[in-house]
Amino acid sequence: MQGLMMDYQLTLTPLMERARRLFPKKEIVTKAGPGLERYTYAQMTERVARLANALEKLGVKRGDRVATFAWNNARHLELYWAVPCMGAVLHPLNLRLPGDQLAYIVAHADDQILFVDPSLLPAVEKLAPHLKSVKHFVVMGDKVPEGTTLSPVSAYEDLLKNASPEYPWPNLHENDAAAMCYTSGTTGNPKGVVYSHRAIYLHSLGISMGDSFGLSERDALMPVVPMFHVLAWGTPFACTMLGAKIVFPGPHLQPRDLAELIQAEKVTLTAGVPTLWMGLLHLLETERYDLSSLRGMIVGGAAAPRSMIEAYEKKHGLTVMHAWGMTEMTPLGTVSRLKSYQLDLPEAERFAIRAKQGTAVPGVEIRAMDESGKEISWDGKAFGELQVRGPWIASSYYNDERSADSFKDGWFRTGDVVTIDSEGFIMIVDRSKDVIKSGGEWISSQDLENAIMAHPQVLEAAVIAVAHPKWQERPLACVVPKPDFKATLTKEDILKHLSARFTKMYLPDDVVFIEAVPKTSVGKFDKKVLRAQFKDYKLPE
Ligand code: ADP
Repeated sequence: MQGLMMDYQLTLTPLMERARRLFPKKEIVTKAGPGLERYTYAQMTERVARLANALEKLGVKRGDRVATFAWNNARHLELYWAVPCMGAVLHPLNLRLPGDQLAYIVAHADDQILFVDPSLLPAVEKLAPHLKSVKHFVVMGDKVPEGTTLSPVSAYEDLLKNASPEYPWPNLHENDAAAMCYTSGTTGNPKGVVYSHRAIYLHSLGISMGDSFGLSERDALMPVVPMFHVLAWGTPFACTMLGAKIVFPGPHLQPRDLAELIQAEKVTLTAGVPTLWMGLLHLLETERYDLSSLRGMIVGGAAAPRSMIEAYEKKHGLTVMHAWGMTEMTPLGTVSRLKSYQLDLPEAERFAIRAKQGTAVPGVEIRAMDESGKEISWDGKAFGELQVRGPWIASSYYNDERSADSFKDGWFRTGDVVTIDSEGFIMIVDRSKDVIKSGGEWISSQDLENAIMAHPQVLEAAVIAVAHPKWQERPLACVVPKPDFKATLTKEDILKHLSARFTKMYLPDDVVFIEAVPKTSVGKFDKKVLRAQFKDYKLPE
């Protein structure tokens, strides 16, 4: 049979048009300095059309890459829509990466134009001599600061002022490239992932489903996850599609800034990595805020410790929505949400389930394979490497021969070691490179970390493998005490706390106290830095 349904391309343009027609009054708010800048979807979409005209004047053509070097703010959102809808490719750069990696990424992506936040200008000026592909810089403000070494350079507002507010959006194909992001490259150079219009369209529906985050027009979402980290997990696209209010924190990411913003703007949903919310939780021990507008905190990118999920719920009545995803997956994979018949389970069991990474959302298929390449059973015990496939999962890395290792037989190999229980909930045991191989056994560093972070006097903890003459590797716990307990917390306290849950084989051989756990460019624990630091560490006999 043929011709049953319309041949309708899933492109982003009608989603933006929807916001323009249906939600012109809805607001977009950005924290800028001490104040807030606010405007509406009517203004936003008009400025998007002006921006597309300006980009065309600058010579941007279909398929060209347009890079951004910016915090989460409204101008960045305008680029999110103008660039893909005119047929070019948005490329947000991770502004926390070292210069040599940024230069590599810009060259590899062949970025033609670079938009930069005024506050980040010095970093780009330093880098500019190495950015050979970039033909034009645009400062995302009213004027070009005097004395800048960037050239040629324009001011964002000048470009918009001189551009028409009407733009004839082209008809695009759903498989056209809309955006790209690079993984943070823990080994070797970062790898690029190109997202199609279709992937972002379907992913926007995916994060709006009731059983994922149920994002809707009634929400006010604050993406704390940077717009360069997997497109702020797709939230700016979905919010615009739905006409949801967006609250951008700009560069203001301290726990107090976030608490104030949630309170002032009645934020209903937030999204970000666990370290942010650990910080906020700590603040809430001593300062009071009215966070009652919050219906959920989307936490992913690294494991949300069960103790954190529990503390938010019990002490503050706030719900953590634990999710797992990857750059290669636009990023949503699984969400940990209790099934209807799990709601009546005893409290401890409910929290144990919610601390897992959850079940695959519709659109994502999963399986996990053991070392011999056999699919593991869903018994919650067997370990295997998670593989995924679906319409918003990449089929290769961008121009990268490393693709062959990760994309095989139509599945993407995630590099995450998991168990899958009989209800289909995955639990990330570890990243394959973090798991501690002790004798024939695998010890989950994440499991130990979460248990240590449940200690009331601990702020953060990371567990790494240290070489051992007999066992090959043994766990070393690197612990950051809360400020009041720096002088008093001991190794014995930690081990005693752990021995309630773990057998001797799993207990760390040693505990060291450190000032802070090093973080990656997207705020995750950077264990490769710790591993290097403790490379020659002598464990006690
Ligand atoms: P990077 O490699 O730069 O960290 P991603 O943000 O794409 O880039 O990281 C994806 C990885 O983050 C996953 O493979 C997984 O190891 C980890 N991760 C993401 N969400 C979770 C989660 N909820 N729990 C545990 N690990 C997670």
